[in-house]
Amino acid sequence: MPNAARKSRLIAEVDFEKDGVQHGFIRLFHSTHASAYGFIPIPIVVIRNGAGPTALFTAGNHGDEYEGQIAITKLAQSLKPEDIRGRVILLPALNFPAAVAGRRTSPIDDVNLNRVFPGDPNGSVTEQIAYFVEHELVPLADLSADLHSGGSSLMYMPCALMKRSADTAMFERTLAALKAFGASHAFVAAIAQGQGGDQNLTGAADRHGVMAIGTELAGGGTVTPAALRMIERGLNNLLAHIGILPPERHIAAPPTRIVEVGGPDYFVYASEAGVFEPLVELGDMVTAGQPAGLIHTPETPWRAPAEVFFAHDGLVLCKRIPGRTVRGDCLFHLGSDWVA
Ligand SMILES: [Zn+2]
Repeated sequence: MPNAARKSRLIAEVDFEKDGVQHGFIRLFHSTHASAYGFIPIPIVVIRNGAGPTALFTAGNHGDEYEGQIAITKLAQSLKPEDIRGRVILLPALNFPAAVAGRRTSPIDDVNLNRVFPGDPNGSVTEQIAYFVEHELVPLADLSADLHSGGSSLMYMPCALMKRSADTAMFERTLAALKAFGASHAFVAAIAQGQGGDQNLTGAADRHGVMAIGTELAGGGTVTPAALRMIERGLNNLLAHIGILPPERHIAAPPTRIVEVGGPDYFVYASEAGVFEPLVELGDMVTAGQPAGLIHTPETPWRAPAEVFFAHDGLVLCKRIPGRTVRGDCLFHLGSDWVA
């Protein structure tokens, strides 16, 4: 862990040990031509009522993924200290410059926050955010939920998710939390293919022994109401599951269909540039060898389209949204039925 001994340069306006509701900003000092002594204000709300577990809920890690940003904003206004035991830490716009720009990456340094953990206290603004989260926020938590959606380029079936862990006890605890969340679908990510691995916030949680739940909720750079309702219920249920809310606050949901996302053969990538025609929809069951899509070249209309194929059986969880594609773009990924 580089620079682990260094203190983050970011300063929290809130006191994490104080009871009641506090709101303010994490100050990330950023000296620019327009603002010599200015700071980037990362909003934070801390709700605490005595001793008890701590939940850390984050969204806007990717700025173009909106359901989690809304759900945490609503929770910041509805959750009262007298309702809870312990502490809830809410950051709905974690990569603040990316969130206000509605972009996956920061417009300041073009860095993807969820690919630079554990961060760097002396690095670019996004690396400094990662370092603060890794060293100052995650260690406070018993449970972390970092809320993602498909963003501008992908659309997901609304899913909760967790990572496979070699630590059996942690895996079982996290799986129980995943089921309590109450999403209609969830997936266990077996490996880090395309998803950041130990460079994301879940990796930070792993390093600190903190239980981590994630989501992939619709996407496409928009807000899907059904996905928003699913995450609002899910956050409530996570709080009830770990004892921050009383158990009777749990909201019943149908059982979650859990699938596993395995290795590279679960993903379909564009073989060349062109216009992507999907041949299946989200939620379809497919088999290995089945055509997944065609890539057309309207600029050379007499040329036959390239075909891309699924390499594994499974449920279509995710698809690419923009029609224009280039070689290497992810077009689909699958999940396969998985037995706990
Ligand atoms: Zn994301």
